[in-house]
Amino acid sequence: MSYEAYKDDSLGFTTRQLHAGYNPAEHYRAKTVPIYQTAAYELGDFDRCVRLFAHEEDGFSYARSANPTNAVLERRLVSLEEGTAALALASGMAGISGTFLNLCGVGDEIIAVKALYGGTTNLLQNILPRHGIVGRFVENPNDLSAYEALINEKTKAIFVETLSNPDLRVADLEGLSDLAHRHGLPLVVDNTFATPYLLRPFAFGADVVCYSATKYLSGHGVAIGGLVVENGKFDWLNGRFPHMEQLYEEQKTAIGDEQLKSSLFTARLKQHYLTDFGAHLSPTTAFYLLQGIETLSLRMDRHVENARQVAEFLEGHPAVHTVFYPSLSSNPYHDLATKYFPKGAGAILSIRVKGGIEAAKQVLHKVKLFDYMVNVGDAKSMIVHPASSTHHNLEESQWEAAGVYADQLRLSVGIEDAKDLIADLEQALAELV
Ligand code: PLP
Repeated sequence: MSYEAYKDDSLGFTTRQLHAGYNPAEHYRAKTVPIYQTAAYELGDFDRCVRLFAHEEDGFSYARSANPTNAVLERRLVSLEEGTAALALASGMAGISGTFLNLCGVGDEIIAVKALYGGTTNLLQNILPRHGIVGRFVENPNDLSAYEALINEKTKAIFVETLSNPDLRVADLEGLSDLAHRHGLPLVVDNTFATPYLLRPFAFGADVVCYSATKYLSGHGVAIGGLVVENGKFDWLNGRFPHMEQLYEEQKTAIGDEQLKSSLFTARLKQHYLTDFGAHLSPTTAFYLLQGIETLSLRMDRHVENARQVAEFLEGHPAVHTVFYPSLSSNPYHDLATKYFPKGAGAILSIRVKGGIEAAKQVLHKVKLFDYMVNVGDAKSMIVHPASSTHHNLEESQWEAAGVYADQLRLSVGIEDAKDLIADLEQALAELV
């Protein structure tokens, strides 16, 4: 018997989520990906050590930069995204902050949307500007002329969430990637809410995809992790990115011209912002993430079906004044959702309840099955008030543009029995009517 599923990218998504990137024959035939719990590796001989540090040979020296367990996780994501390279980091924010630093030097700019995860907005609006990197913001995620008006010679990327947090706007990736590429810029997306199963951003021109693997990729809620995946098609040598060119010139002979060109973003992210900033993902966490990814497609089908039922129930409820869920035909992003999310637009939705913040508080206190938590993407259902938690860094004057409201609750619909979820929300909303 010759096991080859690990390298067969013609296999279906569900098959690859179980097999891609791991060949047991290279790991004492252990069928489960082993946890390489070691801080460092024996280097062999002097010449090998020199080759490793010169990037002439693949291998492991110190776990802060690479680990065989993490490498399997990275290869699995490369396969699921159909990209060329990936990097695992300690958290979604480590991946996003490393991505911004990898793109920009002092004076450079990232154009982003106002409706983003609060931590990302805080980075671009408050933290990175103190280090000379500026976030420029557009209000409407799909107003191409607003992005275009902000593009200048310092711009290094357009950054959007494919499904925005917390009001679930759908980014028109094709329009955005066309615009970005016309200006020699990469389109960088956070695909955390969608997952590669529901949306593969590279198919619509995105160049770099970031994930909080803490969410659906793991699904069990036991670990924090991040992943960044590269498409391999963007030309980093187009004149806008001298820092990428420098690394390319230094390492193209050792690594190989074509290989480095198609993984340049990841190589620099790994060498500079993983290794020297130190946001290493522990191999035990990589193992947990791999366990989660094995069931991703099955969970997502169930999440989406439950979310559809919950959204329809909420839309018909007299105590609910708005439901933000793009698969609903009443949603302004419904056409984009049909195009980009034929399997359904994920399982996170938000609602505005009648009766203001006091009504929202009541619902939080009355739910018995939904957990009051800031996380999303767990198999178990969760609910939160974004304005006071995930988006607390925003000034009230910034709320509306970011899709945040005092009377809003964000729901992450889990894989429980839909009837139980609906019954829980029904009793929690009952006295508001
Ligand atoms: N991106 C999105 C859309 C998120 O919701 C989050 C966290 O909630 C992050 C990124 C950050 O991920 P992590 O918590 O793994 O650092």
